[in-house]
Amino acid sequence: MPQPNEWGKLPHAKPRLLVVDDQPINIRLIHELFSQEFDVFMATSGQQALEKCKSLMPDLVLLDIVMPGMDGYQVCAALKADPALSDIPVIFITGNSNEEDEVKGLELGAVDFIHKPINPVITRARVNTQLKLKRQSDLLRQVALIDGLTGLANRRRYEQELLTAWLQCARDNQPISVVICDIDNFKLYNDTYGHVAGDACLREVAQCMANSVQRPYDLVARYGGEEFIAVLPRTWNEGAQQVATNFFAMLQLSALKHEKNVTGLVTVSAGVATVVPLPNSSPEKLIAIADEALYVAKKSGRNRFHCIAMDSSHVSE
Ligand SMILES: [Mg+2]
Repeated sequence: MPQPNEWGKLPHAKPRLLVVDDQPINIRLIHELFSQEFDVFMATSGQQALEKCKSLMPDLVLLDIVMPGMDGYQVCAALKADPALSDIPVIFITGNSNEEDEVKGLELGAVDFIHKPINPVITRARVNTQLKLKRQSDLLRQVALIDGLTGLANRRRYEQELLTAWLQCARDNQPISVVICDIDNFKLYNDTYGHVAGDACLREVAQCMANSVQRPYDLVARYGGEEFIAVLPRTWNEGAQQVATNFFAMLQLSALKHEKNVTGLVTVSAGVATVVPLPNSSPEKLIAIADEALYVAKKSGRNRFHCIAMDSSHVSE
């Protein structure tokens, strides 16, 4: 199953509410209203609100409009302009019930308005509605990035993560490695044991590969039908070989029967590739090298991995 840290944040036990208001008395009122059910955080300026959004990733922001310095509109615009923060819903809290202000706020991406003085029943209902919607969209986002059969990251998630990791390693002049693996004679496995057993086999192999990485920023994904890939940022070839070694050992321990294989067990072949990416290059070359290594592993008898480490000069296009 996916490691909890694969999503960058765990689902919180309690939803997180960030209350932004330059008047502490207003924050106190909302805190009293919600502190039982939610984790309530506070900010007394626009700048502080943005910092807290980055560090806390709240599930909802209650945002005062009129504040000295950066006002609520500016905070909302900044949140919506940042891809990492744009999914955080914003409810404006406003002292004046002016239609023009509401239109402006909604156009900036706010989901609702609450008028001062705060009515506890209305505020509670609106906050609960928005939190429910947020929970549902978080769930959908996660499902869209998970492979349904194995629980690993899916191809789409993998592509996003690989690119991010690649660019980060290029910036830091660090190596990046991948391990691509393919289940040996999987078609024969399905023909022999049927597709239900085939699915169980895929899940077991996925689990072994997921367990063979340790660090929170390593990603294991389903790459294709019976192909899996581990993306290992800041990892030299030796480290990636260690991941492959762990993976092979775990698979051997799980001892899945495959009578059509020489060993009598389910085995995999893998390609391990490492490069130090150059700025403005793309990760495709790394994957091509890993595919080449996988091909060598298969050609030389399967149930093994083959490694290729490239000098970065080979990766420039
Ligand atoms: Mg104010």
